[in-house]
Amino acid sequence: MKARNPYTGEFDYEFTPTSPSELEAICGRLREAQPCWEKAGIAGRAETLREFGSAVARHRDALIESLVQDTGRYGISVREANLEPVIEREIAAALKFAREETVRETELPDVINKRQLASYALVGNITPWNFPCSMAFLDTIPALIAGCAVVVKPSEVTPRFIDVVERILRDVPELANALAFVRGDGALGAELISQVDYVCFTGSVATGRKVYRAAAERFIPASLELGGKDPLVVLQGADPVKAAASAVVGSCIASGQICTALERIYVAEDLYDEFVEAAVSCARRVEINYPDIRKGFIGPFILEGQAGTVKRHIEDAVSKGAEAQTGGEILDHGGKWCLPTVLTNVDHSMRVMLEESFGPLLPIMPFASIEEAVRLANDSEYGLTASVFAGDSGEGEEVARALDAGGVSVNRAGITLMVRGIEQDAFKASGMGKNRMGREGIRRFARSKAIMTYAGEDDEIAPGLAAQVFTGC
Ligand code: NAD
Repeated sequence: MKARNPYTGEFDYEFTPTSPSELEAICGRLREAQPCWEKAGIAGRAETLREFGSAVARHRDALIESLVQDTGRYGISVREANLEPVIEREIAAALKFAREETVRETELPDVINKRQLASYALVGNITPWNFPCSMAFLDTIPALIAGCAVVVKPSEVTPRFIDVVERILRDVPELANALAFVRGDGALGAELISQVDYVCFTGSVATGRKVYRAAAERFIPASLELGGKDPLVVLQGADPVKAAASAVVGSCIASGQICTALERIYVAEDLYDEFVEAAVSCARRVEINYPDIRKGFIGPFILEGQAGTVKRHIEDAVSKGAEAQTGGEILDHGGKWCLPTVLTNVDHSMRVMLEESFGPLLPIMPFASIEEAVRLANDSEYGLTASVFAGDSGEGEEVARALDAGGVSVNRAGITLMVRGIEQDAFKASGMGKNRMGREGIRRFARSKAIMTYAGEDDEIAPGLAAQVFTGC
């Protein structure tokens, strides 16, 4: 298979996909080694993961370079290659999780329950192209620390970083017995689901539906983290200039190629003109990272087809009466870029207000009442996250409660993206299954097993139990 370089537009990398029989062999090998990984306990696994963190540090330059080639962006690649804090965060969470292995009396006399947390043996993790390395490890590290073995199938669009991760894994053989990466497209993803005991999937709603069906067919649990169309609501009391600056950052972060980017904005009508003016002035200052990859806030579209989607959303909106106040075009330098595009005169007949754009678009619509703002913000098949700006945080939080989304940031866009230790479910089509945040992020990879032992001294077998069972006979 060939992979395109998003910065140059050239197909300059080739790789051999993992065959189904190779996948089966990898899964068999990990399955065999997993009991030993689980037996090492949280302390043992934490030590191995810390060794992995040190190995990442030794190979960091190569990892960054591979991510630069995969994504066409430098600053985010540097942050993605910084895996040690993720490892430390999950180890800290796992230590709390260990305390759930409790010993408790039960309601039956002399019967003691020891709860065992029994890990799923093999987890499959299927990931998208927008943050190749972060997404590959976000579910993987909690699953590993919970005692599972993991096979990761990253997107075929961004395969280069896998070479470096495999080199790093060779430095940590204990981990290589519990973690493997495979290369391939959706067909290999589907094959992976047929081999594992639990599937984590991050990607589009369309693929998520297929993954959920395949998991249901096999009767295995699935955690699905899918797309979004996140709204920002700017209430009457908000500072329009501050809200606009935050909106531009929230829409342009990772060039909009992030599930939690702001994709549509609703502003109290009295603030509308001032907000649009501030957003336009802020958007005009944002530059692309071409010709210097280390400068600029906007990187290229990683998936070429995404540039087409963004173009169609802009054209559809303009054909229905919208006006592009900034940007509005796809820039072609081999790779493809889009400058922040502030759109006015938009409404919900336009695709840009309803479908995931995954680009730096800021369609801005006025509203006359809070009820209207909430109705418009909730008029979406998605429910990932949302943001609210208000004069007073009480009013902001009241509107946040009415929004149909799993995480709402108040008085700054995208806070919910930065906090990982708090549970957030994905609402509506944005996700399904147990979420990856907070305690549940690790806890979902183990089942509660009850081991109940009779500890009494009676000669009769569990007399209390027998009495209860036979009552009424
Ligand atoms: P995608 O659905 O096209 O692909 C995701 C992964 O699924 C890839 O590895 C792909 O090879 C694999 N795949 C494709 N068909 C498959 C099948 N039938 N069975 C199993 N696997 C299959 O998504 P994408 O274009 O790579 O990523 C962009 C999407 O991901 C956007 O919608 C974005 O919002 C979403 N996303 C969500 C989150 C989140 O946390 N909610 C995070 C990042 C990205």
